[in-house]
Amino acid sequence: MYSLNQVGKHTFYVDSFSNIGIFEYDGKCCFIDSGGDASSAQKALSLAEERGLALEKVFLTHSHADHIGGAAFLREKTGCSVYAPGVCAALVENTFLTPVTLFGGYPTEEMRSRLIMGAPCRCEKLSESVLPEGLKYIRTDGHDFEQAAFGTSDGVWFCADSVVGEQILEKYKIAFVHNVEEHLKSLEKVKNLKGRLFVPSHDSPCEDIKPLAEKNIGNVYSVCDMVKKFCKDGVSVDELLESIFSALNIKLYLTQYELIGQTARSYLSYLKKTGEIECVYKGSKLLWRTAAKSS
Ligand SMILES: [Zn+2]
Repeated sequence: MYSLNQVGKHTFYVDSFSNIGIFEYDGKCCFIDSGGDASSAQKALSLAEERGLALEKVFLTHSHADHIGGAAFLREKTGCSVYAPGVCAALVENTFLTPVTLFGGYPTEEMRSRLIMGAPCRCEKLSESVLPEGLKYIRTDGHDFEQAAFGTSDGVWFCADSVVGEQILEKYKIAFVHNVEEHLKSLEKVKNLKGRLFVPSHDSPCEDIKPLAEKNIGNVYSVCDMVKKFCKDGVSVDELLESIFSALNIKLYLTQYELIGQTARSYLSYLKKTGEIECVYKGSKLLWRTAAKSS
């Protein structure tokens, strides 16, 4: 952990809980993501400085705390600019919005821990015009409101959380998703990316991203099947969550309840749109039931 790995003529990554990309140009560098906190960011910054690189810009792939938590420290320490795609820039500046969206109300104390709510940081919207020469991005929304994957001129793609590592997928069987439809579109894009090396945020780099992207696509459809199975007789969201936690052997605690909760609600929303799940009302109870055409 926390070593500088050179993966291209101008491209490096620092392996940490969330990998941090480094792209060098003209004696300067930019980071792709900032680590989860000031300590991770400091380690990556020291490694860049040891190579004589001055940090000029930080490009955040999306708004989740494990990617943005070190940005405020980096900005304060170096004066670097910080960018994030679309609405994520507002979330980076107002990090209390993340637990609010997860909880759907004023969040509990547990939800405001640094694992969910990173230090807020001044942040501008990502655009082509702020990229250094040799760096490009594509949008890979769905895992978060918006998300970007960054590609370097020496053939490396930083895929962010558009793909989840195989081991994580095996272990948890369900990956956090905000918008299932967009996530599937993004996975198709990532599957067809051309590059020499692909660096997911929470996995080792690989030369061929297609098999991992396909596994992630397969996982989305198996979660869809699981949700439809559990909704067969019409269930409340809490009853659906109980079935998911129990079937996947996930330990229940408040933060996990909210993370899996948002993901499950996003799947319900997607399956309602595809016509595979419908809302039914039993007295004053709202139930989600697999539609006749899906059963
Ligand atoms: Zn994420």
